[in-house]
Amino acid sequence: MTIPVRKTIRGLSPYIPGKPVEELERELGIKNAIKLASNENPLGPSKKAISILAKGFFKNLHRYPEGSGRLLREALAHKHKIAPDQVILGNGSDEIMDLAAKTFLEPGDEVLIGDLTFSIYQISVTAHHGVGVVVPLKEGRYDLDGMARRLTPKTRLIFVCNPNNPTGTMVTQREIVRFLDRLPAGVIVILDEAYAEYATSPDFPDSDGLVKQGRPLIVLRTFSKVYGLAGLRIGYGISQQEIVEYLNRVRLPFNTNSLGQAAAIAALRDEAHLTKSVRLNETGKVFLMNALDELEIRYFPTQANFIYLEVRLNGRSVYESLLREGVIVRHIKENWLRVSIGRPAENRRFVRALKKVLNESRERSPS
Ligand code: PMP
Repeated sequence: MTIPVRKTIRGLSPYIPGKPVEELERELGIKNAIKLASNENPLGPSKKAISILAKGFFKNLHRYPEGSGRLLREALAHKHKIAPDQVILGNGSDEIMDLAAKTFLEPGDEVLIGDLTFSIYQISVTAHHGVGVVVPLKEGRYDLDGMARRLTPKTRLIFVCNPNNPTGTMVTQREIVRFLDRLPAGVIVILDEAYAEYATSPDFPDSDGLVKQGRPLIVLRTFSKVYGLAGLRIGYGISQQEIVEYLNRVRLPFNTNSLGQAAAIAALRDEAHLTKSVRLNETGKVFLMNALDELEIRYFPTQANFIYLEVRLNGRSVYESLLREGVIVRHIKENWLRVSIGRPAENRRFVRALKKVLNESRERSPS
């Protein structure tokens, strides 16, 4: 069969999701595997979000959802102190990345992307006939000066992942402002803040303020991470009204569903759950960093709910050995793994498994 696939799509690697717990349990015939591989909230969503779904509010599942998610956009506008017309919802924030590529790229336009970052940027850009220009990170951080040097008259979009996945590092308010000041007209920055709620640094950018200043920015947030609603697929972008209006021209009419919209509104009202989730992450972060220090394992300081670490052994085989211990993490490249910060018992289990795997491989190959 001859499949008429575009040349650039032929060369794309598909997105690789974290391995599902059920799949590992089936493969190993075990029951209590844990997943620290997709940066989800280990507490799950707010009880308020769950009860809105459970209460049987949804007698109208035969009806289409409110297409633009007006009530949720209003709630988000209130939270960010902007107008509802400055908010767009997506079926996850990754849909909005895709909408931006679809809306703003002419064939051959260039898009600046960090060289170790969320892989969907490159996939969307390629799918929409753009050219990803990859700029190396500097010590695990987005190098905005490096990006500024790669600007050409063809540059249309710039992805900045902050905090960056997988390294967990961030760029500061001062750095992003300096970068925005240097941009020529006609370039839009997509500031992906999927993990922003976890960032505790006082230097973390005030992206709401930047949008309010009228900067050419699309800030992306999601309900998949700290709000614990990854399964319902709700992300959002905030930007200038004109930019949102163009994105809406190519957004499919019912891209977010009624259950997700309602659960997200309820989740926004539960600030206590948000605070609890961030605190749990902080405690887990300290525990894991101490354990890694003790094991003399290198890692990047993280502002997110995951840690990027270097195991000094073959990363793929450490990942696979951890799987056999029932612990799912992510192998990113070479000797580098990314582990999501879980509940205390999950973090302890990961450290125990990692110690065991490292000891066993040392015994197999004594130096
Ligand atoms: N941005 C980053 C940096 C992510 O890591 C993820 C999910 N892994 C997303 C965006 C997409 O999140 P969602 O589509 O679930 O909102």
